[in-house]
Amino acid sequence: MAMWKRKILSNDMSGRKNKFSFKRLASLRLIITVIIILSILLPLIISGRIILNSYSSKAMEDIVIAVKGQGSLVAADIAATSYLDTMNSEMIETELEQMMYTYSSRILVINRNCIIIKDTYDYETGKTIISEEVLSAFKGVANDIYDTETGRANITMPIYASESDEIIGVLSITIADTNVTDMYRYINRIFVAMILVFSMLALLLALIISNAIVKPLERLNQSIINVTGGAKEMHIEDRSLYEYNKVAQSVNRMLDRMKVIDDSREEFVANVSHELKTPMASIKVLADSLLAQDEVPNELYREFLSDMVSEIDRENEIIGDLLTLVNVDRVNAELNISTVSVNELVELVLKRLNPIAEAKKVELIMESFRPFAAEIDEVKMTLAINNIVENAIKYNKENCFVRVSLNADHKYFYIKVADSGIGIPNECIEHVFERFYRVDKARSRETGGTGLGLAITKSIILMHKGTIKIYSKENEGTTFTIRIPLYHGNSGGDTI
Ligand code: ADP
Repeated sequence: MAMWKRKILSNDMSGRKNKFSFKRLASLRLIITVIIILSILLPLIISGRIILNSYSSKAMEDIVIAVKGQGSLVAADIAATSYLDTMNSEMIETELEQMMYTYSSRILVINRNCIIIKDTYDYETGKTIISEEVLSAFKGVANDIYDTETGRANITMPIYASESDEIIGVLSITIADTNVTDMYRYINRIFVAMILVFSMLALLLALIISNAIVKPLERLNQSIINVTGGAKEMHIEDRSLYEYNKVAQSVNRMLDRMKVIDDSREEFVANVSHELKTPMASIKVLADSLLAQDEVPNELYREFLSDMVSEIDRENEIIGDLLTLVNVDRVNAELNISTVSVNELVELVLKRLNPIAEAKKVELIMESFRPFAAEIDEVKMTLAINNIVENAIKYNKENCFVRVSLNADHKYFYIKVADSGIGIPNECIEHVFERFYRVDKARSRETGGTGLGLAITKSIILMHKGTIKIYSKENEGTTFTIRIPLYHGNSGGDTI
């Protein structure tokens, strides 16, 4: 526990340095704020621009249509009065002046030699004008160009001779409608003010929403830091939002699991120390009592030494089992998979255990429904089956039997080890797979058990994605059923 507590504490310390880092820009708060502001302002700006532009386009379009109509009339009058040659017609002068004032426009009358014979602003009278619009008007193409932002429009139209299609001049009218531009600027100002107000509101809203989302997250983080930093309360609380509540629940479940792992680790260390100390203590007692006596009879000396050897053997056995358990219990422990004949494997296990069985007068029976092979780790599986069959012999009665049955379907193979032995009391069944658990400690000691055999077996079965089940009745016997996938890619489960 202390190890992981300290590690997270040091993270916490470094996290408190409030140095600026670009990583902070990727914060949830900033992202939410930007999204809210953009989602309010962007539609406002885009729709405002569209409305403003279409308003001034429409206003300019109306003016251009009116000016074009008026210009056509004036052009017809110019053609009828031979104004282009004489430059003298009071009526034309008046019409031009009226048009100039009505539409705030400047009108140029251009003759067929591209000479400006009349400029209502009087700036360029007598000058020659050659422009794209004027030349295309001489080819019979009228032009109108307008710019909504400046409110300026330029209309160029040909002047046709009265009784023929001949183009005898060009009328160029430039309109600078201040009404449209003023209105455009006025609406634009209102619009900019609106954007400013909405920006403030959007910012306020963004802060409120991002706070509502981020604050509980920060609280949750602080609770986790507190808990991992060693706070007494090993649970975190968050009732703000449904989602955060779920995260808090998951974190609590993880903390509970860590506590269980931590407790079991502590218990394991305590058990290991105890188990390793017991033979040592016995050896010490035996050695001390030998040393305490001046003259030790040879028989007693030998007896004590042989007791000491068996204690050393026991110590060795425990260490060996512990190493095996650690090996199969590692998170990334690997299996050395190969295709193995399970019948041959079980036969070999029984052959090796036969001397112990004979010594205990226990009959070993093997039943196989058909020979089959499976993808397994031969060494580990041999150890797992050996542990179960050896237990069935060890915890059996004289002149009884151990029956090992093998079967397989298309997906799994099954090994059943049934004995007619002493059985396991009901309340102990669920504990037999725990490390160092022994139903009858004194008896196990006699039979040489370490209490690690079934824990090792369970780990090996789980590594093979298999299941192991136990059925036992005191004084009647015990049956273990193992199910393992025939092919290593298939998964089973871990029901026990
Ligand atoms: P041990 O090394 O003590 O045999 P195991 O982990 O193999 O440890 O078994 C744990 C305990 O379960 C044993 O001490 C024994 O009490 C009980 N046990 C296991 N198998 C049997 C069995 N076939 N019949 C009765 N008791 C059993």
